[in-house]
Amino acid sequence: MKIAVLALQGAFLEHEMILRRLGVDCFEVRQKQDWQQQKDALIIPGGESTTQGKLLDELGLLSPIREEIEHGLPVFGTCAGLILLSRDVEGNSTSAPAPPRLGTMQIATARNAYGRQLGSFHVEATFEGIEGKIPMTFIRAPYIKEVTEAVEVLAKVDNRIVAARQENQLVTAFHPELDIDTRVHEYFLNIVRNR
Ligand code: GLN
Repeated sequence: MKIAVLALQGAFLEHEMILRRLGVDCFEVRQKQDWQQQKDALIIPGGESTTQGKLLDELGLLSPIREEIEHGLPVFGTCAGLILLSRDVEGNSTSAPAPPRLGTMQIATARNAYGRQLGSFHVEATFEGIEGKIPMTFIRAPYIKEVTEAVEVLAKVDNRIVAARQENQLVTAFHPELDIDTRVHEYFLNIVRNR
């Protein structure tokens, strides 16, 4: 198994470290030719979704990545990655045009949803399909406001959706790559194996 990790900006190294700990091969996607490599899945890290979206667009990566996801390539987006996969996003400035994104998942997302004081926090909460509680670190996190019936809600914190799945697409508003618990990554690797 080989996982592509989008490495334009943000916390991509942390994902690579978890994959390495799980004994899974990965490579970084920094430009279009990296994307040609054979891959079984893609991880889109946290960071700044506006920057990542603009870079994806400028590098000509937006359409090729979107196409493969639409053809079933498993993808895991954390935080900014969740925003990039959302079909609808609110919380962008109303005057500027919306930044480019992949938009393959039938979810509506609110950006920077927890406000400034609560910008970063840590909780433990249940995650559908994983036993026990999962540590969840939120950093200026979005949350999912709406899903269609194609989407399975996997976790909620304060009654807000923070993890969801639509077939081979998995998103979390928190950063499992910043905790030592590897179970959310293992959950994703099971989706990849069972594709
Ligand atoms: N607030 C960021 C954004 O809108 C996401 C934050 C994160 O990835 N930690 O892109």
